[in-house]
Amino acid sequence: MMREGAVTNEVYEYRRGVCEGVEGLNPPCPFNKGKENGEHYCDKCGCGERKFALLYIDGEPPGNTERLHMPDPQCPMYAMRRMPGSGSLKSVGGRIKQLKKLLVAAKEEVVSKGVTEKNTNEYLAEIEGASNGNT
Ligand code: SF4
Repeated sequence: MMREGAVTNEVYEYRRGVCEGVEGLNPPCPFNKGKENGEHYCDKCGCGERKFALLYIDGEPPGNTERLHMPDPQCPMYAMRRMPGSGSLKSVGGRIKQLKKLLVAAKEEVVSKGVTEKNTNEYLAEIEGASNGNT
């Protein structure tokens, strides 16, 4: 997303409708896992409940989450395909803010997992396995 920018708002809204459901059109995706705090994650992709995997938050503007703005949101049910970025990150808070959010999310995750210099390679292998669908 940093290179291509976020997808357009129309694409975002369409994707959100696929996950969330649209009254009279399609039901919510059965893999849409809503939490008590209003956060929604995909329960099928193996990304877990990481900030960058967050689909959307009930009652919050789209710019507070990233995944459905990414050119390739990695829907495991192939319900949404890759779309080109719009060249802008405005919809998700601008390039610097976006980069900062990604770095903060990555740092929080690394710290929460107890990653040290000694076990970095194990952690990287775990992430690689998850992104290859091996978890
Ligand atoms: S499987 Fe696709 S449509 Fe369903 S919640 Fe996950 S990302 Fe959304």
